[in-house]
Amino acid sequence: MKQFINKYKEIIIFNLVVNIIFALFVTLSSYYYIPLNNLKGKLMYFLHLCIVQGTFASIIYFLTLSRVIFKVVFSTLFIILSVVGYWTYSINISMSSALIDASVTTKPYIIKDLITVQFILFLVCSTIVLWGIHKYYKSIKPKQGIKLFFPLSCLLLVLYFLVNNERTRSLESKLPYSFFYALNEYFIKVDIPLKQTIKITDTKNFNKLNIVFVLGESLRADHLGLNGYNRETTPLLSKRQNLISFKTVYTNKTNTALSLPCILTDKSIYSNKNDSVRSVFSLFNALEIPTVWIGNQLLEPSYEQIVNTNKDVVIIDKFKSYWNIGKKHDLELLNEFNKLFKREINGLYTIHMIGSHWWYEDKYTDAFRKFKPVIDSKYIPSLSNEQIINSYDNTILYLDYFLNTLINKLETNNIPTVLVYLSDHGESLGENGKWLHSHTEALTNPGMMVWYSNSFKTVYPNKVEALNKNKERELSTDLLFHSLVDLIDNDNFNYNKELSIFYTKN
Ligand SMILES: [Zn+2]
Repeated sequence: MKQFINKYKEIIIFNLVVNIIFALFVTLSSYYYIPLNNLKGKLMYFLHLCIVQGTFASIIYFLTLSRVIFKVVFSTLFIILSVVGYWTYSINISMSSALIDASVTTKPYIIKDLITVQFILFLVCSTIVLWGIHKYYKSIKPKQGIKLFFPLSCLLLVLYFLVNNERTRSLESKLPYSFFYALNEYFIKVDIPLKQTIKITDTKNFNKLNIVFVLGESLRADHLGLNGYNRETTPLLSKRQNLISFKTVYTNKTNTALSLPCILTDKSIYSNKNDSVRSVFSLFNALEIPTVWIGNQLLEPSYEQIVNTNKDVVIIDKFKSYWNIGKKHDLELLNEFNKLFKREINGLYTIHMIGSHWWYEDKYTDAFRKFKPVIDSKYIPSLSNEQIINSYDNTILYLDYFLNTLINKLETNNIPTVLVYLSDHGESLGENGKWLHSHTEALTNPGMMVWYSNSFKTVYPNKVEALNKNKERELSTDLLFHSLVDLIDNDNFNYNKELSIFYTKN
């Protein structure tokens, strides 16, 4: 062993130094904001960092084999990724296709805001470090021991794919890998077969309504106080008149990317075909009803095109995905809503929340920290069930306040108004030892509620009666498309009336 190290000492030390520098400037930034409460959690994440950097060491090694490639490709990668690292350290940005899109289309005044003294110092520092690396590189023989190090690097690369698949793709969410995945997502657009909007000549013959659809995140129905949960998680909504909860809604799509394409179109959760589908927004557009999407989540490729069929799309926290610590709180969505909402005319407004997505602690504000103790680490094995459930339930208290605030505003509308809240899926809270939602055993019973204004009740008593009859039915999230279309009673559209919660046979 000693002999081996002595023989390849030069190349081993060089790669070690380059990887440590790379980790400090780039990789470590992805771990900087992760809250961890004990030594075991810190060790586990340190191990995770070592696996990410250790497997990426193979790519760096391949680049060192050619002097030209190392000079051009490594230098470019190092500068770009250390700039990304800088923004990750300073404001915890998340690599995504949206971020790349924003970077390439960014306006000069935004660039001016981003260029600070600290940023320039950082750039100078990384350039000097890069110069040092190249100077060091000139003094070594990079191909020494290639017969040994080349296959070893190939093995490390294979290890990356194996571990990434095993660990629910957690390696690819960290820098530097997240950068390449975001690039890939930016250039390869998923094509959703969307049917063209039909032109309708009679655009006046439909119900005059204001519809607000709140698309929730990871809310399980059985944790709502108004559904009989043993904790009062909905103190404000429980006192509300004209509010109906649907306890038995089902979905088999247990993550956002799979669930949303079915909720927002006429594609059924039971269909595996790739047939063309209709976006619910395009039908409203055909009637010249304003459609507005206000979101606190980045748009994923599986539903981005559908969302973009809205007339207006506003995303409030463009550079942070739901995995980022420190995302904006959902109440900020209402500031945008207040700006865009027109109370006297028809409209379909969709508000897409970050809701109860893990990490729960930054999804609500301090005033809602009622159930304690709460989670204090992202390393789940170091947390008690009680901590996790407490934090999760606090996010529901926040949702209760959020919806109540929104309803307070809608109550003053003159035209009939309906609010439909539907979560995209549920959440596992320790059942069978499973947590969060990205596995098949995740909870399939999302929360759903409907509120309607007094004028809606007066003008559409049959629809209110239908809501009361349908609330006990076992339904699937397929109901959303058909219910929204059914609400406006326009005969031009084909839809399944039986799936509407606003319709009953007798
Ligand atoms: Zn989701």
